[in-house]
Amino acid sequence: MDHDRVRGSSKPVKNYDAIIVGSGAAGGIVACVLAESGKHVLLLERGRDLSFADVGRDHLRNQRLAVYGHNAGPELNGNPRVFVNPEGTSRIVRPHELDYHNNAACVGGGTRVYGAQAWRFHPDDFRMATKYGVPRGSSLADWPITYETLEPYYERAEWELGAAGDARSINHQVPHRRDYPLPPVPPGPQTLALQQGARGLGWTTTPVPLLINTEPYQGRAACIACKYCVGFACPTDAKNGSQNTVIPRALATGNCELQTNAIAASVDVDSQGNVSGVTYFVERLAERQSARAKVVVVSGGAIESARLLLNSRSRHSPSGLGNEHAQVGRNLQGHLYPRAYGLSTTKVFDGVGPGVTIATTQFNHDNAGIIGGGMLADDFIKPPIDFWYDSLPPDLPRWGIRNKEFMRDNYTRVLHVRGPVQDIPSPDGRVTVADEVRDKWGIPVARLSGTTHPATVEAAEFMRERGEEWLRASGCEKVWSAQPGLILSGRQHQAGTCRMGRDPKTSVTDEWGRVHNHDNLFVVDGSLHVTNGGFNPVLTIMALAFRSGEYIARQI
Ligand SMILES: Cc1cc2nc3c(=O)[nH]c(=O)nc-3n(C[C@H](O)[C@H](O)[C@H](O)COP(=O)(O)OP(=O)(O)OC[C@H]3O[C@@H](n4cnc5c(N)ncnc54)[C@H](O)[C@@H]3O)c2cc1C
Repeated sequence: MDHDRVRGSSKPVKNYDAIIVGSGAAGGIVACVLAESGKHVLLLERGRDLSFADVGRDHLRNQRLAVYGHNAGPELNGNPRVFVNPEGTSRIVRPHELDYHNNAACVGGGTRVYGAQAWRFHPDDFRMATKYGVPRGSSLADWPITYETLEPYYERAEWELGAAGDARSINHQVPHRRDYPLPPVPPGPQTLALQQGARGLGWTTTPVPLLINTEPYQGRAACIACKYCVGFACPTDAKNGSQNTVIPRALATGNCELQTNAIAASVDVDSQGNVSGVTYFVERLAERQSARAKVVVVSGGAIESARLLLNSRSRHSPSGLGNEHAQVGRNLQGHLYPRAYGLSTTKVFDGVGPGVTIATTQFNHDNAGIIGGGMLADDFIKPPIDFWYDSLPPDLPRWGIRNKEFMRDNYTRVLHVRGPVQDIPSPDGRVTVADEVRDKWGIPVARLSGTTHPATVEAAEFMRERGEEWLRASGCEKVWSAQPGLILSGRQHQAGTCRMGRDPKTSVTDEWGRVHNHDNLFVVDGSLHVTNGGFNPVLTIMALAFRSGEYIARQI
C-alpha cells in the first residue's frame, strides 16, 4: 500500500487498489473476491462489528420488531431520514420507525440478523418488460443479463456461504445445475399441514432454501433450531452472512483493511472529474479522513448508496456522481408482503426453529390478469409479542381477557403463510437528499418519497387470496389476512436505486455495476436490481457481487 499527501495538508493519505463502502451482503463478497485475487482493499463500514451479546435477545428492540428500538444499527440518534408521505407532507424519521426503511448498519449489514432465505430469482424475473409489457407510469424493464448469466454465481453464493435446500423440488421453475451443499431444514407440524393442503389444491411446494448450516459446514456448527432466528444473531453462528464467511476470508489474506464506525461522506474526484477516492468520518477521530484508490465500489445498500452518490457533488457532477440523467435514487423498490393466518384444529407449532420450512412458487408468474406474482411460505417463529403485534384476527380486542385467552389458547394453533410480491417499480419511488437535514456528521440525509406502482397492489391482493386458500385447504377453520395498500416499498428488501442497464438515460450502471461514464466507479449491492423478483433478494445481491467482484479484479 502506498502513501501520499492530500494537497494543502501534511497528513499522509493511503492509496488502495479498491475502497469498498459498506460491508453488507454485497460489499463483503466484493472485498473477499478482490482481496483473494491479491488486491489491496479498504472496507469501510459505518456500523460496529456486533458480537452475539451486542445483538441480544430483546423482543421489543430488534430488527424484526423495532417498537422501541432495534439491535443492528444505525444508532437511533444522529441518523435521521426524511420521509415524504403520499399526500406530500414530510417528517423526520428515526431508524427504528417503519418509514425509515431500515435494513441494518453493522459488519455484515442485513446479513448479521437476517432470516437467511436464499432464493434465486425466476428466469422470467429478468425479462419482466418483455413478458408483460410496461404498465403506464411504471419503469418496468428487462435486466441487461439473463438468469443463465447469473446461474454460476448463484451456485457460487450457495456453496461458498453455505445454503440448505432441495434443488430437485424447484428445478422445474428455477433450474439449478448443482444441488445445495446442505440438506433442507427438517419439516415440522406446520410443514405437514401445509404440504397436505397444497397437495389437495394441486400446488407444488419446495423446502425454503436457507443460508443456514443444517449440518456443520466450513468449520462452523450446525443450527440448534432455537426460536430466535430472524432479527437476531445466531447463538451457534450457523446462520451464514458476510460477517462470518467472506469477510473473515478477506481479512485472512492480509490484503483487506476493515475500518468499522467509518461513514463515507463522499466519493471524491480529481481535477479532471475522475474518481480518486473517498472522504469519510471515523467515530473516534475528530478529523475528516481521506483515502485514494484505483477503484471505488459503493455497497451501502439501496438507500445509502444512492445517498452517497447524490452527496458526491463537484463542478464536474453538480447533481451527484452518475446522476447526469437524474436516475440515481429512482425506482426504489422492495416487496409488498401479503400475509394470511388460519386457526388450525390441531397444534401446528412445536417451537422448533427457524420455523420457515415450506413454500409454493406456483404463483410467481403466469397468473391471469396479474403482472408477476410472488412466493408464499410459512414463517419464522415469532416471539409471543411479535405474534400479538402482527398475527391476531382483526375482530379480536387488542387487550383484555379475551385477548389473553386467545393468545393462551391459540399461539400454537395459528398457521401462517406470507411472502414477497414482485414490485412493479415506479420512477417516483425515490431517494433524494435533504440538504436541510443533516446527520451527526453534517452529511445531508436521505429523503424517501413516492410509492410503488399500483399494479403491485393488484398482485399482492391476488397473493393474499392464494394465502387464504392455502390455509383453508390445510384444515384451518377460521382464516384472516392482511396486505398493505399503495405505499412506498423498500424496507429490508430495498433495491433498484442505481439500476443496471444499457441506456445511460434510464439506468445508472452497466451490467457489471460500473457507473456510466465513470470507468473506476462501481455500485454493487441491491441498488443494481432492475426488478426485485417475487422472492427475497439477498441471494441475487450476492450472485451479482461475485460476478462484479471477478470483473473488477480483472480491471485493476
Ligand atoms: C431482519 C431482516 C431479515 C431479512 N431476511 C432476509 C431473508 O430471509 N432473505 C433475504 O433475501 N433477505 C433478507 N433480508 C434483507 C437482506 O439482508 C438485504 O437484502 C441485504 O442485506 C442487502 O444487501 P446490500 O449489500 O444491498 O446491503 P446491506 O447488507 O444493507 O449492506 C450495506 C452496508 O453498508 C453500510 N453503509 C451504508 N452506507 C455507508 C456509508 N456511507 N459508509 C460506510 N458504510 C455504509 C451499512 O452500514 C451496511 O452494513 C433481511 C433483512 C433484515 C434486516
